[in-house]
Amino acid sequence: MEKRVHRPTAWHVTHWSSDPFSLGAYSALLPGGTPQHRTALGQVLHERLVIAGEACNAGAPAMTHGAWNDGLRAAEAALSAGARKVIVIGAGCAGLAAAQRLRAEGIDCTVLEARGRTGGRTHTVELGGVKADEGAAWLQHFAENPLAAVALQHGLACIETDFSCPLAAASDGDLPDVDAAWIALTKRLDRRLTLAEAINRYMVTLEPAHARATQFAIDANLVLEACLPVERLSVSALDEEGVGYGDRMLPGGYSELVDLLAKRLDIRLNTPVMRIDWSSTGVKVNDEVCDFCICTVPVGVLKALHFTPALPETQQQALAHLGMGKLEKVILQFDGRWWPYSRSGYLRWYDQPASWGEWLDLTDAVGKPTIAGLIAADAIERQFSGRTDEQIAMAATEALQAWAAAIRPTP
Ligand SMILES: Cc1cc2nc3c(=O)[nH]c(=O)nc-3n(C[C@H](O)[C@H](O)[C@H](O)COP(=O)(O)OP(=O)(O)OC[C@H]3O[C@@H](n4cnc5c(N)ncnc54)[C@H](O)[C@@H]3O)c2cc1C
Repeated sequence: MEKRVHRPTAWHVTHWSSDPFSLGAYSALLPGGTPQHRTALGQVLHERLVIAGEACNAGAPAMTHGAWNDGLRAAEAALSAGARKVIVIGAGCAGLAAAQRLRAEGIDCTVLEARGRTGGRTHTVELGGVKADEGAAWLQHFAENPLAAVALQHGLACIETDFSCPLAAASDGDLPDVDAAWIALTKRLDRRLTLAEAINRYMVTLEPAHARATQFAIDANLVLEACLPVERLSVSALDEEGVGYGDRMLPGGYSELVDLLAKRLDIRLNTPVMRIDWSSTGVKVNDEVCDFCICTVPVGVLKALHFTPALPETQQQALAHLGMGKLEKVILQFDGRWWPYSRSGYLRWYDQPASWGEWLDLTDAVGKPTIAGLIAADAIERQFSGRTDEQIAMAATEALQAWAAAIRPTP
């Protein structure tokens, strides 16, 4: 019998890795990198310049509320310095937080944003009449998340995702106990070595079935979280938290929340900053002068900005230990839900080599058969290279079909 190939009625593929204003998804600790490098990057420079954003928040890196809290920290630095005129570079969560805090204190504050929209690495698109997020989808650490409080205060719907019980399958046979393999790995790794070396040494001690389970665990819990291959990650990346702490998604899309956060601010869109001159008492940003500058561009972009004088050694060292992880999404919509139903809406696909490892079934949340797939690190190159968005979406659909065929119904 001929196999039925499902065809999406609509699709959307993201390209954060090549977007010149993000150059990746979020920051990760490169070999030798530690949370102290994040804190060092955010140190205030001569009471007139500070770098801020998710990458500088050692407590909640790579998350929207981490960015927001770090923007507030940067605003406090400007207030402590007695600044009256502040330029904020970037209208993502960090930049919006800083600008809102300064506005509340009556400070003259302008936000310069390169893109023609606010939100940075949060952005909602419309697909077949429903909303879906290209970037951040979850409000993480919900109970203590200040953005969650804003969402609740304004009555935005928030739906919890239970990451603890994914509907999972493996492409090459029975599903092993991936969680147990992960726990064993984290307990037995020699942390004095580089991450890649420690993993290599551990893997050679394992018999094939255990090695297979461990590889799946590494792909799912490390590479798909930090979004870089293990050779490019620090051992400390193991300690940086990912998803799974009461996270809730916004079915109406993150942009609805960002619009609230951007209210009443002076934001200049389509204004890319190239040069920051902080050599004298004021700071010159492109051709505009201010008392204090808060720069919230992502670390990949930051590395290419022209600073006069150059950033101090501490910040250069910090930047050398921080990289941008790569994570992309495909959002697929169909006439009907043909894949198995999971109460948590959370699906995992263990592939060798890794491909679309994580799927989030949005159907119940948005009211139309819609599913979003996530892919990270080297797997992006394997799945995207030489393909149009349509071809990427079709290949992802095939992966989803393979997963659906492999899934064993749970009793
Ligand atoms: C696919 C994906 C999924 C994610 N999932 C989640 C999630 O579920 N939950 C979560 O909490 N986080 C998630 N994140 C991470 C989260 O989106 C980011 O950590 C957060 O949005 C970063 O905020 P920020 O303000 O630090 O940086 P950004 O949002 O990147 O803001 C920086 C701003 O600076 C602008 N800019 C860049 N260069 C210039 C320039 N030269 N001049 C002027 N402006 C410039 C950019 O356009 C941008 O608006 C995800 C990210 C991605 C990409």
